[in-house]
Amino acid sequence: MASSLQDILLRVKEAADIVQIVGQYVPLKRAGSKYLGVCPFHNDRHPSMNVNPRMGIYKCFACGAGGDAIKFVQEFERVGFVEALRLVAGKAGIAIPENLSLGDKGDSDKTAMVVQANQIALQIYVESLEKSQVTLDYLQERGLNRETVKHFQIGYAPESSDLILQRAAAKKVPKEAFIEAGILGEAAGGRVFDRFAGRLMFPIFNLSSRVIGFGGRIPPGRDGAKYINTPESPLYSKSRVLYGFNFARQSIDQSGEAVIVEGYMDLVSLWQAGVHNAVAVCGTALTREHAQMLMRFAKKVYLFFDGDTAGRQAVRRSLEPLLAQGVEVRVPVLPASEDPDSFVKKNSPDALPALQTLFAAAEDLPSFLIRDHGKSVDSLSPEEKDVLVKSAAEVLQHNPSVEVRDAHLQSLRKSLGLRPAPINRTQPRGTNIPTAAPTARVPGLFVPGASLTVRAEAVPEWQLLQLLLSYPDIAVSRADAMDHLAWFMDERVRELFDITLGLLAEKKTLSLRELRELVPESLQEVLASLEIAEGGDPERIRRQLKEYAEEVESRYLQLELQRLKQTMGGSIETDNKTKEIYFGLYKRLQAFNARKGPLGFNP
Ligand SMILES: [Zn+2]
Repeated sequence: MASSLQDILLRVKEAADIVQIVGQYVPLKRAGSKYLGVCPFHNDRHPSMNVNPRMGIYKCFACGAGGDAIKFVQEFERVGFVEALRLVAGKAGIAIPENLSLGDKGDSDKTAMVVQANQIALQIYVESLEKSQVTLDYLQERGLNRETVKHFQIGYAPESSDLILQRAAAKKVPKEAFIEAGILGEAAGGRVFDRFAGRLMFPIFNLSSRVIGFGGRIPPGRDGAKYINTPESPLYSKSRVLYGFNFARQSIDQSGEAVIVEGYMDLVSLWQAGVHNAVAVCGTALTREHAQMLMRFAKKVYLFFDGDTAGRQAVRRSLEPLLAQGVEVRVPVLPASEDPDSFVKKNSPDALPALQTLFAAAEDLPSFLIRDHGKSVDSLSPEEKDVLVKSAAEVLQHNPSVEVRDAHLQSLRKSLGLRPAPINRTQPRGTNIPTAAPTARVPGLFVPGASLTVRAEAVPEWQLLQLLLSYPDIAVSRADAMDHLAWFMDERVRELFDITLGLLAEKKTLSLRELRELVPESLQEVLASLEIAEGGDPERIRRQLKEYAEEVESRYLQLELQRLKQTMGGSIETDNKTKEIYFGLYKRLQAFNARKGPLGFNP
């Protein structure tokens, strides 16, 4: 009934704590009466999303995403409205009737059914485990205790799909929902079967701990794929699902570190051994989406893969997406015959200290690259060293920070016994940076950070400053547009511009290190929160420079005119000098507007 739905909606919206709900997916920092976080809906590393607890809404400055708690869950989890409402209501302690229907929002009923199908299957798998002694024995043999099995809700898929069909009928969930969820398959003649029949089941949960898919391991002694996963469904996409993330999120958030493994069993073993910040990719290489999900919580990532060649290849493939997010990468080294699970087993019951030692000795990027090359440093020829440095530079180009790239390359050169390279030689500007890299997104797009509050009208001048710092060689050619420090209304911009231009005039090149040394303590944090972009099309950068400079100039002219108008105050006594200035400015603004098109300003 529509009225009862309206009632529920109202109650949920009133009771929902948006900071708690958004905070479950994205770490939030308090900024006055609001909260800031990195927006999950566009590729970013800066806190551009604003959460307002009083109004119960979120809004992203950069991509425009916004809405209430239900909308956030809907967009993040990619679920229908009813499902998002249920999740938010659950958090707020409000019960939603099972059969709630939304009439015009009915398209989401299908997703809701798939969600229910997954839940029904999970229940059956967990129940069935108790009846499969073979599987219980197998789990014991693998060293998993009851507590761990319960924690991960590991189950067993019965050979027959009868139980699922019975339970589905009882709960009025059509079998099509199970087919859609990838639980049931349909054979010729319409007979349905459980795709996971006979398998050990690892349910996969989303961040709100709702089951969205499964990984099934083949029973020992049977032929077939070792693991099968839920096929892509409205709820499940392997490129954006990390197994165990729901359990590990808090620990990752607290430590700022995450461990990535490749298998369900690796992850479960690590958990049991006491490593609670691990996640696993499910039958796919690590993707950019995975890296984005992780970097919201983690600054450092351990790639804990098998010790063999395949494991090393997997590390190599994972570097690009992680480096592109600016995450620090470490590689714990296992003997060639080991994987994380076997390592835990071998060292039990003292697996945790053994793991801690292994992690403490994990390779940084240069060490990994040298080992990956397969030769000892001493046996490398100068040419080989050169190739190694070049290929490292190629890998590192995905990292948005010049400092990080430099530090890694210098450390690699040092390990190879080479002289340090001149600074900033590591990546010629404007070349080879993938356009999708976070900083190439919109060079100079200015997003106020948590430590930086900026008046909306001052945003173009901050953008201009960012462009100057990011592309000094291009920006300084517009010095004519830059050296009017009076244009800037924000003192901090004025001061940073002044110092930067001074440095540029003196040295002809801009080193951020030198700049940092010159900038007063009070502005260090401001400088650090600016996004230094790289790469991008020089033509586009020039266009943006022109655009921002014009905006800054026109705003300055308008403000000056207003100020003078107030000074004159309509008085006839106004001295000629002021009149002259006023009309001078007015003419400039007119000429400016004629160039640029009307601004709708009328002095
Ligand atoms: Zn956004």
